[in-house]
Amino acid sequence: MERNEAKKIIANYELNQMSDNDKIDILERNYWFFDSKEDIIEAIADESYPKISNHLIDLISVTSKPVLNEESESLILDFIKDGFYFVSNSYLEFKLIEINQNFTDKVIGEVEKAGLCPCCEYYSIGYGEDGFYDICPVCFWENGGNGPNHMTLEEAKLNFGKFGAINKNSLDFVDVEGRKKYAKE
Ligand SMILES: [Zn+2]
Repeated sequence: MERNEAKKIIANYELNQMSDNDKIDILERNYWFFDSKEDIIEAIADESYPKISNHLIDLISVTSKPVLNEESESLILDFIKDGFYFVSNSYLEFKLIEINQNFTDKVIGEVEKAGLCPCCEYYSIGYGEDGFYDICPVCFWENGGNGPNHMTLEEAKLNFGKFGAINKNSLDFVDVEGRKKYAKE
C-alpha cells in the first residue's frame, strides 16, 4: 500500500473516533478563521494558510456557514494527515494493524525528508531551514538554540534521558507515540 493511501485510511479512522467537541477544538486551534465566514475569506485572500490545498479553499469559499460538516471535516483530515509527516512506514503499518488485525500488506513510498532533532536525535523536525524553530514532538526541544528552550542543549539531552522530555513540565506536550513514529539517528 502506498504511504499516502495508508495515511488517508488512518486519518479517516481517527476522525471517526473523535467526538464533535474534539473536532471543533482542532478547527478552532488550527484554523483561526473557522467560526467566521469573513475571516475564512480573508485567510484565503492573504494566503495565511498555504498548507490548505486549492481543493479545500474551493470548498471553504462555497460553505455558507462554517460549521461541522463535510467541508470542515476535510480540514481536520488534512490536520491529522499532516501529523504523519516524517513518520516511518513501519509506524503506519503498526497503525493499520491496530485498525485491522488482518492487515498484512507493506506500506511503501519514500518518507518525507526530515531534519534531525539535536536533542533526542530522532528525525522528527523540518529539514534544513524548514526546521528552524520547529518544536520536536518527541522531546519538545525547540530547534532554535538555548534561548527559546531556556536551557542548554546538554541539559535538555540529560533531561530527555531521565524523563523522556527536555524537562518534566514538557512531558504533557510530547507525543506519547513519538519514539515509535520517527526514525532515530
Ligand atoms: Zn527531539
